[in-house]
Amino acid sequence: MLVTLPKNVCEECRKREATLLCDFIVGHNIDLVGKGKVGITTCDKKLCEKCARKVNTRDYCKEHFQKLKYEVI
Ligand SMILES: [Zn+2]
Ligand SMILES: [Zn+2]
Repeated sequence: MLVTLPKNVCEECRKREATLLCDFIVGHNIDLVGKGKVGITTCDKKLCEKCARKVNTRDYCKEHFQKLKYEVI
């Protein structure tokens, strides 16, 4: 049987195809984008729809969803 693996494999389950990226902001890059502009760096962990935790309109990986909870409380 031929198994075709998805091109973007979810980094959490490593089974399903990743269609989402973690939107957790891990830092700001001021210098890289140019003067006066602030670039936002997000985690960008590849996630499938089952592994991503949706908060409002953003998606988060397991690790960052936990962090988010602590920050809110
Ligand atoms: Zn997954
Ligand atoms: Zn993340």
